[in-house]
Amino acid sequence: MTIFTKIINKEIPATILYEDDDVLAFLDIAQCTKGHTLVIPKTFSKDFLDTDVEVLKKVVSVAHMLANKIKDNLHPSGINILSNAGEQAGQGVFHYHLHIIPRYDENDGISITYKENPNQDLEAIAQEIKKGSE
Ligand code: 5GP
Repeated sequence: MTIFTKIINKEIPATILYEDDDVLAFLDIAQCTKGHTLVIPKTFSKDFLDTDVEVLKKVVSVAHMLANKIKDNLHPSGINILSNAGEQAGQGVFHYHLHIIPRYDENDGISITYKENPNQDLEAIAQEIKKGSE
């Protein structure tokens, strides 16, 4: 059980933005930017990969609705919608969740950057990924 199960069960408080039988959305306690929101399924799965596709669809549907509400009412200039899977990827709470992170200015202290590794054999990488699925 994680802290999110306690939030679902109302054993600890959270600022809830949306709730139905399957999905809960609440403000992230960290508020890395104003409106930083988490959307989670009520059923337990540890991360994106571990989550049933039908459950993912419900979570994404709520995230889509709330991201648009955030866009319309808080007026960020951009929004990141992301999910960390695994400790190496930055996951700290092992109950699948989507972050909605509104972005207001370039000095908000959030850095999601990609280092380039040019000259890779893309075809070989693709073949390796697809192994077992033909
Ligand atoms: P992760 O690093 O696993 O992708 O994100 C977990 C998020 O959960 C963090 O952004 C963290 O601030 C948030 N979080 C952890 N504990 C609580 C809590 O008790 N309440 C709320 N609202 N958010 C929490």
